[in-house]
Amino acid sequence: LSEKLEGALQSVTGQGRINELNVAETMREIRRALLNADVNYQVAKEFTNNVKEKALGEDVLTSVTPGQQLTKIVYDELTRVLGGEHVEIEYAEDPPTVILVAGLQGSGKTTFCSKLAKHLRSKGRAPLLAAADVYRPAAVDQLQKLASGINVPVYTVSDDDGKPVQDAVRVAEEAVEEARNTARDVVIIDTAGRMHIDEAMMEEVSTIKSAVDPNEILFVVDSMTGQDAVNTAKEFNEQLDYDGVVLTKLDGDTRGGAALSIRSVVQKPIKFASTGEKLDALTEFYPDRMAQRILGMGDVVSFVERAQEQYDEKQAEKLQEKIRSEDFDLQDFYDQLQRIQKMGSVKDLLGMIPGVGRQIKDLDVDDDAFKHIEAMIQSMTPKERSHPEILNGTRRRRIARGSGVEVRDVNQLIKQFREMKKMMKTMSKLTGQGRSMNLKK
Ligand code: GDP
Ligand code: MG
Repeated sequence: LSEKLEGALQSVTGQGRINELNVAETMREIRRALLNADVNYQVAKEFTNNVKEKALGEDVLTSVTPGQQLTKIVYDELTRVLGGEHVEIEYAEDPPTVILVAGLQGSGKTTFCSKLAKHLRSKGRAPLLAAADVYRPAAVDQLQKLASGINVPVYTVSDDDGKPVQDAVRVAEEAVEEARNTARDVVIIDTAGRMHIDEAMMEEVSTIKSAVDPNEILFVVDSMTGQDAVNTAKEFNEQLDYDGVVLTKLDGDTRGGAALSIRSVVQKPIKFASTGEKLDALTEFYPDRMAQRILGMGDVVSFVERAQEQYDEKQAEKLQEKIRSEDFDLQDFYDQLQRIQKMGSVKDLLGMIPGVGRQIKDLDVDDDAFKHIEAMIQSMTPKERSHPEILNGTRRRRIARGSGVEVRDVNQLIKQFREMKKMMKTMSKLTGQGRSMNLKK
């Protein structure tokens, strides 16, 4: 979607003036781009009509930079259609906050529940997961595995043989009780989905809803399912009247389309976006950032926020100081790599940088490349790490052997590190105190 929109806008950016004719043509292209990205027909039509109306206002026509103005109008309209403001989860005044998670099978509920638990923990809350998908033992196992990786307890009810008791309502009710008794302040209830909407599933979720009276019902939907996503969102909303939408699999190709349609058709805020299988791949949904992303501007703010979770101010300052004084060595480089990897997949992170998103879409970014670099640095002695200049042929051969790579890989690492150091130095000079490296607001 973003590529096509950019193309459509570029054709007017080049022109001196916007007139009725080229606005009409640009709108046709934008509409086509939206429809191709599975945006609902009605939504696409309304979208372009609104943009056209604003664009033909005299401000744009007489402006010196009509192309930019038009881009701004499209951006504003995208933001508006995506919901305008970010909407937070509602927390209960009297904990625990109960969050009920519903959606079709395979939409990403269980993964999302774990991601949300991790996210809430990083915000200082103490979540409890409830395994209310009780029909497949594998479902309970899956949640337990994910949760054990992040140290969040899972509430289950088993019979004497250790099999899950098939009573989702009971699991949900007891989990809330358990949270109250163990001072857990958020309960996240993972439910069973079916391949298609059916009565039994809806009834079960509705029964859980009346039993535990959740503060928040989140509907999870796979954004790759296109128009189906919109229909599913509509039906779940009619039955459950949910509070927010979670868009999953936004790392796929159809980014944007479903988000635009669902928000306009259902009129419920999108609260989270999920962009990968790893538990870090969750972002709070901000309409303006999504609009930026759709327009190919990258998602800088989300990137910085995610970086912030991994950095603290002191570390960042220390790092800057090292860069300024040229003390930045391979050990620091190694520490940085570790931190970057904690932030999620490299491709994911790169995609958030403006202008990069499009280029790397078809590129296979190799997260394993990091592993090799780490192995090489691990094979170095502390002295070699802080004084890479002593790395002669013998040492390089030893390192290559120790880390299972070729000598030329070691050579390349050293060369790249040297260039990177030079670049960092230049950057820190350019930005005065090197403030651009400081990721705190
Ligand atoms: P559930 O049936 O609704 O509980 O769905 P699951 O959480 O089990 O997810 C179904 C599949 O989708 C799993 O293989 C997940 O790893 C995968 N998945 C979930 N969220 C995402 C996402 O945001 N991006 C990608 N690429 N895969 C995801
Ligand atoms: Mg599941």
